[in-house]
Amino acid sequence: CGIVAYIGQREAYPVILKGLKRLEYRGYDSAGVALLNKGLHIYKKKGKVAELEEYLTGKDMHAHIGIGHTRWATHGVPSDRNAHPHSSGDGRLAIVHNGIIENYAQIKQELSNKGHVFKSDTDTEVLIHFIEEIRKNNNCPTEEAVRIALKRIVGAYVIVILDKDNPDTLIAARKGSPLVIGIGKGEHFLASDASPIVEYTKEVVYVNDYEIAIIKADELILKNIANEIQTPYIQKLDIEL
Ligand code: GLU
Repeated sequence: CGIVAYIGQREAYPVILKGLKRLEYRGYDSAGVALLNKGLHIYKKKGKVAELEEYLTGKDMHAHIGIGHTRWATHGVPSDRNAHPHSSGDGRLAIVHNGIIENYAQIKQELSNKGHVFKSDTDTEVLIHFIEEIRKNNNCPTEEAVRIALKRIVGAYVIVILDKDNPDTLIAARKGSPLVIGIGKGEHFLASDASPIVEYTKEVVYVNDYEIAIIKADELILKNIANEIQTPYIQKLDIEL
């Protein structure tokens, strides 16, 4: 039940791993990361962040954009298969999610009728397939598909999405659960609370309910659900490490 994401010049994986460890106090039953580097790479494991780390030792984790998650299972037992990140059916999108999609069962049924096949028992995987379906039907950018999907979604969520075909952009949104964006010089840090961010920057934006953030290394755009651009309110953290 924690999210960390990074985009910028640093190696994303060490930033994400360290951030997930800082969020461990929130409790979790599995952990995972997705990285974009000439393709989408997803790694996830039941258990502690340290077990994920051990499993990934020696692997090439090079990337400058990535998302990470610790899960507190609500839909589907704790397992490798139900661990986040989850991907769309076409393998283009990856998502991490904290919270609950209350109306997932109905959406899952509709998507199954259209031929979607699910690899997990989570509400989260339904959401990323739903976004995929909207993106294909409307032939629209992923951020637009996210916005349309969220109009239908009932529940509480923080989501962060990677799109293999837009490797310089993170897409995030929230309702009901907190999401902090740390603003660095040519880099951005995302997390469920400020603890993974403070060591890198003191300038943060708290995303509001129903806002969608489109984040590049050197640009942060916030939109509301009506697709209107919002001015980010930058706050200074006074937390010391
Ligand atoms: N509802 C999602 C799941 O069960 C996310 C849980 C969480 O917040 O970690 O996988």
